[in-house]
Amino acid sequence: MSFGISIEASTNKKQKPDPKNLVFGHHFTDHMFIMDYDAGQGWHNPRIVPYQPIALDPAAKVFHYGQTIFEGLKAFKKADGTVITFRPDKNFERLNRSNERLSVPAIDEKLGLEALRQLLLIDQDWIPEEEGTSLYIRPFVIATEAALGVNPSQKYLFMIIMSPVGSYYKEGINPVKIFVESHYVRAVRGGVGDAKTAGNYAASLKAQEEAHERGYSQVLWLDGVHRKYIEEVGSMNIFFRIGGKVVTPALSGSILDGITRRSIIELLRHWGEPVEERQISIDEVIEAHRNGTLQECFGTGTAAVISPVGELSFNGEKYTIQDGSTGELSKKLYDTLTGIQRGIVEDSLGWMI
Ligand code: PMP
Repeated sequence: MSFGISIEASTNKKQKPDPKNLVFGHHFTDHMFIMDYDAGQGWHNPRIVPYQPIALDPAAKVFHYGQTIFEGLKAFKKADGTVITFRPDKNFERLNRSNERLSVPAIDEKLGLEALRQLLLIDQDWIPEEEGTSLYIRPFVIATEAALGVNPSQKYLFMIIMSPVGSYYKEGINPVKIFVESHYVRAVRGGVGDAKTAGNYAASLKAQEEAHERGYSQVLWLDGVHRKYIEEVGSMNIFFRIGGKVVTPALSGSILDGITRRSIIELLRHWGEPVEERQISIDEVIEAHRNGTLQECFGTGTAAVISPVGELSFNGEKYTIQDGSTGELSKKLYDTLTGIQRGIVEDSLGWMI
C-alpha cells in the first residue's frame, strides 16, 4: 500500500559530507517526510519534499508546553546495496506509546513504516558505507496549534528527517567514566520518563553539564523516590554483570523501554544466558564491587549500541570496573549487534527489515 504519499523530488541536491569525518546529527539528507494533523481531518497529506525549514507561529504550543515526542533509529547499507533498518516496527510502536502519554493522536504505524521506506529509497545514496557509519533516522511530532493555554493541541506535524552519522567511537568501543547523580533526578514513576519527549532531555542537561565539569562523560540516574535504585545512564539503558549473571533495571514507568535493551535481553536469552530484570540499588552495585563480583557494566542505546562503563563515581569514591577496560560480554554483544546491523552476522532473531 502506498498510503497516498506524494513525492516532490529535490532539484538542488546537496553536497554529501566526507564519510570519514561525520559528526553526529549535523548533516541532513536531501528529503524529509511530513504529514499534517488537524482535529477535523485527522492525519492527512503525507508527503516527501525537499529538506527545508518549516514556518511556525510563535504561539505554536510546542514552544510553550513542550507537547512533542521523537524517535531514533538507524539504517545501514549491506555490501550488495540492500538498505536495511534495525527493528523500525519497535520504534513506531514506541512512538505511539509516547504519543499516547503526551495526548498526541496516534499515527498509523504501517503508514510510518511505508513513509520511512520511501524516504530511504529516495535518499539511499546518503547511507554511508564505511564501517561504523549509518544513517540516523529521526521521526518526531510537534504540536503546532497557535494558541496559548494548557490543553492538547488541535494541530500537529509529524516529520522524519535523516542524518548520516559516523561511528560513535573512533576506535572500537571505549569505556566511559560515569558520575552517579544523587542531587538531580531524570524522571519519576507516573511522570513522562518512559516517553521519548523533549522535556526529559532538557531536564537532564544541567546534571550532564556538571558531570562534564567534574570530568565524567555521563550521569547514572537514580530513582526519584528512594534515591537508590538505578534507572538509566545518560540517555541509555544500563546493564551489570554480577557474579556471572546479567542484571538490568526492570521497566518501572520512569525508564525508557530501549529497543537496544530489549534486543540485548533477547540475544542473551537466545544464547542461554540468564538475564534478570529487577530493581537494583547502587548499594548492591557498590557491594558487588567490594566483594569482587562486579564484572561488567555497560549502557545500551541506538547511538552507541554498547557503551562500557570503566569507572563509577559515587559519594566521592571512585570504583573502577574491569580495570577500566572493555569486558568480554560487552565486546561480544557489541560485535554481534553491530554485525547483525551491517548484515555480516546472521540475523537469527529476524530483526532487520
Ligand atoms: N533511555 C533514554 C532516555 C534514551 O533517550 C534512549 C535512546 N532512545 C535509550 C534509553 C535507549 O533506547 P534505544 O535503545 O531504543 O535507542
